[in-house]
This record gives sequence, structure tokens and C-alpha cells, in this order.
Amino acid sequence: MTSNVLISVSLVYVAFLFLVAFGADKWAHAGRGAWLRSPIVYTLSLSIYCTAWTFYGAVGYAARSGLEFVTIYLGPTLVMVGWWWILRKLVRIGRAQRITSVADLISSRYGKSNLLGVIVTVLAVIGTTPYIALQLQSVTLSLAVFGAEGSGAGLVTADAPATALWVAAGLAVFTVMFGTRNLDVNERHHGVVTAIAVEAVVKLVALLAVGIFVVWGLAGGPTDVARVIEASPISEWQLDSGRWVALTFLSAVAFLTLPRMFQVLVVENVDENQLATASWAFPLYLFLMSLFVVPIAAVGLARLPEGSNPDLFVLTLPLAEGRDGLAMLAFLGGFSSATSMVIVAAIALSTMVSNHIVMPLWLSLRQEGASVSGDVRNVVLIARRVSIAVVLAFGYLYYRFSGGGEALAAIGLISFAGIAQVLPAMLGGLFWRGATRVGAAVGLIAGFTIWAYALFLPSFGPALFSPEMMTHGPWGLGWLRPQALFGVEGMAPVVHALVWSMLVNAALFFLFSLVSFPTPLERLQGAQFVNVFEHSQARRGWARGAAEAEDLLIMAQRIMGGAQAQALFRAQAAEQGKSGYLPDTTPEFLERLERQLSGSVGAATAHAMVGQIVGGAAVSVEDLMAVADETQQMLEYSSQLEAKSEELARTARKLREANEKLTQLSIQKDAFLSQISHELRTPMTSIRAFSEILRDGALDGPAQHHYAGIIQDEAIRLTRLLDDLLDLSVLEAGQVTLNIQQAALGAVLDRAVASANSAGEGRVLDIRRDRAREDVTIETDTDRLAQVFINIIANARKYCDAAEPRLTIWVSKQKGGLVIDFVDNGSGIPAEAEAMVFEKFSRLTDQQKAGGAGLGLAISREIMNKLGGAIAYLPGQGGAAFRVTLPSPEG
Ligand code: ADP
Repeated sequence: MTSNVLISVSLVYVAFLFLVAFGADKWAHAGRGAWLRSPIVYTLSLSIYCTAWTFYGAVGYAARSGLEFVTIYLGPTLVMVGWWWILRKLVRIGRAQRITSVADLISSRYGKSNLLGVIVTVLAVIGTTPYIALQLQSVTLSLAVFGAEGSGAGLVTADAPATALWVAAGLAVFTVMFGTRNLDVNERHHGVVTAIAVEAVVKLVALLAVGIFVVWGLAGGPTDVARVIEASPISEWQLDSGRWVALTFLSAVAFLTLPRMFQVLVVENVDENQLATASWAFPLYLFLMSLFVVPIAAVGLARLPEGSNPDLFVLTLPLAEGRDGLAMLAFLGGFSSATSMVIVAAIALSTMVSNHIVMPLWLSLRQEGASVSGDVRNVVLIARRVSIAVVLAFGYLYYRFSGGGEALAAIGLISFAGIAQVLPAMLGGLFWRGATRVGAAVGLIAGFTIWAYALFLPSFGPALFSPEMMTHGPWGLGWLRPQALFGVEGMAPVVHALVWSMLVNAALFFLFSLVSFPTPLERLQGAQFVNVFEHSQARRGWARGAAEAEDLLIMAQRIMGGAQAQALFRAQAAEQGKSGYLPDTTPEFLERLERQLSGSVGAATAHAMVGQIVGGAAVSVEDLMAVADETQQMLEYSSQLEAKSEELARTARKLREANEKLTQLSIQKDAFLSQISHELRTPMTSIRAFSEILRDGALDGPAQHHYAGIIQDEAIRLTRLLDDLLDLSVLEAGQVTLNIQQAALGAVLDRAVASANSAGEGRVLDIRRDRAREDVTIETDTDRLAQVFINIIANARKYCDAAEPRLTIWVSKQKGGLVIDFVDNGSGIPAEAEAMVFEKFSRLTDQQKAGGAGLGLAISREIMNKLGGAIAYLPGQGGAAFRVTLPSPEG
């Protein structure tokens, strides 16, 4: 087979993966494709754990170290079967806190500490870069194998670095295309995950096919294979239990902490319940992957020439037998393993690098602060893309300058041990509320340093650490020998570094957590993490669906009002080509909705509310704080508004009252004017008529006298009316000057009775008084007071309708002051008219008979007001009864 064919097949395969990823993205976007959320896809996506290192390397590992390779599969199996509750907690927290990466997890747990985010990111990049290099190497190596076999040998072998560069570039393009197409709220990549699931199937099928071919095609069945294994050096392998435990532990930890594993396990997880399936399906997958490892290794060792690389048996065995098709499949399996790992690792790392390093830098350089606006999104996207390119470039450079070959083979475990340093901070954060940021940072840095010093840096060979230093320690300090720290010898370097780094890391994490105090935010986040099952509920399933859109609509209606919310939803649905008013909850729509809502409730609140429904997320503490802030502002604003509106209401009430008064006054004025003109016209009319008769001179003496008398009477009445009006207007305008003097009440009454009796004709009124009681000295305007008395007495003379009219004047001292009651024996004033008699022009009897204009009592009331006293009608006294009250002289 020529390399050209190989390359074409690879390209077709890649194109196929593109299509899968593209289709899955489209489907997920449209809310279709229920199988995308199938637990099987999730389980298959976990298979990125099996990289090219395990695909090819497990056989090599078995050929060199017997069954030790099993530890690599055993660790994850134990986690899936025995520790799934840790996973469940991780997934729940990831969902509730919108965690985007392992760095984000650690930083969020410890009070959103960016320092921790940066530490973990750096650690992850350093730990993962060699691993990416390893994948590039395996692809190049496997291509070279074909090159060596085929006719066009030179093409690939001679130019391995160029091949690696092409592969790296191709992977960068794929990752950028499907890893950063849009910024999903939850950082999920349905396209990528689906493509990876497909690759998982390809690599499993490839390995099984090679295994079946080896067992039944080459060896002639299981019994023969058993005999071959028996004869091979694999059977001489001895179990080193310490090493076994250490390696199992290492792979278990790596399964939890590797950035790419965290990405597929937690970040890409769409439903917590998928874990239940994965907990048996993934161990099964691993079992199938490892099933034929030993047979392939044993048969390869037996059949292939001495010195051939056992790491490539999976390829070289079929090739040696001329099974080009099978070899091709095996190549695609290895290719799948390598590419899926690189793609997910690049996505995970780029998320970390852009979120914890690039964005904070960018935001601090830009002074305006953070706002989730369009340009921030663009910056994030660019940061992601550049980060992906940089991560792959690092991988390529590492491959190029590490010299490749054997040095890379051990890098898998080294990488695991590095990233495992996250474990104490992670588990401590999940289960121990006392864990603090300081503890996490100190533990991480210490563990990381030991790892770098004891394992990572020595892996570069003599270029970095001279053999001299490795055997005697730096500056001859024996206890600082990188592979025998504190004089502990006899352990394999990996185990040695793992034990020391984890011990020191965990111990310092614990100690510093005990002695340091968490910030309030840390405390709250700690509680949220540790008690996540009390704070959140399991999601029902897929994040996007009609139920969710409905929830959003209900909420939006509550906030924006029914019509507006429905219009927004209907427009959005129409835009998506749907009828009705339940659009798919695409990120664009959510963002738009959030923006709309934030107009009413503030940005933080809107974000929290939408997140609550879409993510099923427990609101993070920061969200809550922002919401509280906003609420506070709104409360203040609304209380201000309330105060203002109260003031307005008060003013309005005053205005209304004033207006009513004015209207009433205007009505009164009109009535008064028409009354006055009426009052004036009546006497004027008779004066005119009778004076005309007199002028005609046709009357005899007595008639003339009679008419002249009438004219005089009317003139007098007119004068009196004008006097009264003048008096009243002076009183009402308050322009009176009072002439206060001391006098005896009896004397004032005497004067009034005399004056009332003399005035005009009228019946004789029998006035009864108790002079002893009237012997009181008063200090007031006696003329005005007498005017009031005269009016009351005159009224009694005029209006008392009894056969023998009688008026009783009774003086008494009461609490309110000095009281003078005038009670006659007439029929009095009917109850409904009582309130009216003090009004101007109020007359109960007809005018002719009364002879008054109805001003007397009105004037009396004004006078009494001026004197500081009062006049009132007393009902129920047998006749008309008026009470005049004078303020007591003392007060
Ligand atoms: P006038 O100039 O008509 O006397 P007043 O204001 O003094 O006007 O009295 C108002 C009305 O009250 C009178 O027209 C009369 O109908 C009624 N009134 C006043 N005093 C008495 C009384 N002692 N008995 C019956 N009606 C009275």
C-alpha cells in the first residue's frame, strides 16, 4: 500500500468526522437528535481516556512489563464503579456552578480565586503538552511504519516533523471549528463530542479486529494463544504490589483530574443520569480494549523479528501478514485515539487559558470593567482560538525538541502524576468545608514543585540534570537527589515522585487550611460545594426543550408583562421558522431575553433568573450578591418614588380642596350678588312706583301722605340693608377695630332690651330675666355685644308666634366661659333649618312678614367670632333658643 492511499483514506476519514461534528452541532442547535443525549454517546466520549498511548502503548507496555498495563485500566474502572458518588457530586457542582474546567472548579470552590485558576491552568498546560506531543509522535510513527512497508517509503519517514506539523495544524483547524463555533452558556460542544464517540467506536472495533485476527487468524485459537503467552517473557512477570497500587491510584486520580477527562465527564455532561449507564458501560469498554492486549503482545514477541518495536505491534502484525485492510483499520484506530485526545485536551486547555489568563489580563488592561457585551464575546472567541493554536504549537514544539522516541514513552505516567496534584484541593473542596484557598495554593505549588523536580525535569535527560547531579544531588546534597528525596531509595521514579508530591501536597493543604481563615465568599462557596445536593435538584434531562421555553415565557411574562413577552417569544420562534410562541432556547435567544429582562430587573438578576431555568443552576454566590446589590438600588429608588408620589398626592389633595373652596366661594358670591340685587331691587321698585304716583299729583292729601310714608319706610329699609351689608363686609374682611372696655353684663342687656323694644312696631314681648345672675363684669366690645343681643331680642319679637310671647334670658357660668341663653316660647326653628339660620339672607318666614334681609344672625356670628366667643342655636328648648358664649374673663 502506498502512503498516498493511506493519506487519502485518512483525509476521507477526517472529512467524515467533520461531517459528523457538523451535523451533530446542527441537530443540537435545532433541538433535535435525542440520541445525542444518549448515555452511550456520553460513555463513548469518556473513551478519550484511551489515547494513542493506550491504543498502541498498552501492547508495548505488556510486552515489557507484563500485566502492569492493567493498572491503567483498573484505576478508571474503580472510579466508575466505586467512586461514582464523587463523580455525581462533581457533575452536580459543575452544573450548579456553571463550571467550565478543572481550573474553574478549583478557583470557584476557593472563593473565585484567580490565583488558583492560574496555578491549575499553568499546571495543566505543562502536564498536557508532553501528552499532546506523544499523540503527534504516535501518528507520525504509525505513518512511518506504513512508509517503511510501502513503496513510497521516503515520503513519510524522511519528513516526520513535517507530518507532525501537518497533523497538528489539521487538529488545530478542527478544534477551532467545532470547539469555538459559538460560546455555549455551558461550554458544551455537541459536534465534538459526537465525533469523538464515533472515533471511540472506530478504535474499539480496530483493536478488537486486530485481536481476533491475532488469536484466531495467526495463533489458531485461545488454547494456542495461552501456550504462546506461557512461553513468552510476559509469563515471568512478578507482581510488585507497591508499584501496582501506586499506578492504579495514579490512573484513578488522573481519570478525575485530567483536564480533558474533566471536560467530557463534567463539562460536556448534559444529564446526571448518564453516569448510571457510564458506570458499567465504561468499565466494559475498557475491558474490551484490554482484552487482546496480552495476546497481541505475546504473539508479536513470538512472530516478529527480534528488536521490532512492541509499541507498534498492533500495526506491524497485520502488515507483516500482508493484511493491508486490517492494518489500515488499526491505523485509523490509533489515529482516532490520538486526534480525539488532542482535540478535547486543546478545548479544555484553551478554555482555561482564555478564562483564567487571557480574559483577566484583557479586562484589567481595559479599564471600563467587565460587561457581557458583543465585543467581550469576540475577545473570548479570539482568545479561545489563539489558545488552541498555541497549545497545539507547544505540543508540536515539545515533540520536535524532546527528540521524540523512547523519551516520550514514559511521558504518559509523568503527565498523570503532574495533573494528579489537583486531587487534594479537589477532593478537599468537595468534602471539607474547612479547606481554604491558602491551603489549596500552598499544597498545589508544593506538590507541583516536587513533581517537576523529581519527575518532570529529569525526564528531559542529561540536557537539564547532569548524571552527576542525579546521583549525588545538587551541590552534593545527597538528600536532594531528584529520584531519592530525603534519602528514600529503591522506588521507581514515578512512584517515588508520586508518593512525595502527594504526601507533601496533601499535608500542606491540610495544615494551611487549618491555620488560615477563609474569606466570606470562600465560606459560602465551600458550603455550596460541600452541600451541593441540598442546594440543587437533579436536572430532568436535556437542557433545551419546550418545557424550558415555557418556563422562560412564564417568567418573562411576569417581568415584562404578557403582551410584550409573548411578542418577543413569537418573533423569536418565527425567526427560527417555528409557529407558536415557544422558540428553541438557543444561546442567541437566551442572550436576547436576558438583555430584555435586564431592562426591568437589572443585569445580574436577569442572568440569575435565566440561568436558574436554563442551567437548572443554583445561583452562585456572586450572582446573589449582584442581585442583592441591584435589589437594594431598586428599593432605594422605589422608596424615593414613593415619597415623591406621596408628596404629589398631598399637593393634589390640597389643590382639590382649594379648588372646591374656590368653586364654593364663587357659587356663594354669585348667590350673594343675585340676593343683594334682589334685596335692593324690591324696595327700589316700590320707591320708584310710589314716587311716580306722587309726581303725577293726582292724589288727595291723606293718600299722598300714605304713599310718602311707604316711600320713607322703603328708604329706611334700604338704608338698613346697606348698613347691614357694609357691616357684614367689614366684619368678614376682618377690618374691625374693637373697642374693649369693662362693663356689667346686666347693663349691656338693659341697653339691648330697651333698644329692641323701641325699634319699630311689634308686639309686646314679655322678657324674663334673673338680675342676680347678670351681675357679672365682662371685658369686651360692649357695643358689638349689645348689637348681637338686640338682634336676638328683635327676632324674638318679630318671629315668636305664641299668643303671649315671652323671652327668658338666663345667664350661667360654664366651662367654656360665660353663657347667655335666650329662649322664647314660640314654635322655634325646624331642625332642618337650624344650620341655615346663621347664613346670609336666610329667612324662614316670608320677607314681607319678617321685614329683615336675613343678615342679622350672620352678622351676629361674625361679631361673636371677633369677640372670641360664639353664638349657637339650642335645639329642644320648647321654642327658639340662642346661646351666646363669652370667653371667661380669666382666659
Ligand atoms: P332677619 O333679618 O330676617 O331677622 P336673621 O338672620 O336675624 O334675619 O334671622 C334669620 C331667620 O331666622 C329669620 O328670618 C327667622 O325666620 C328665623 N328666626 C330668627 N329668630 C327666630 C325666633 N326667635 N323664632 C323663630 N324664627 C326665628
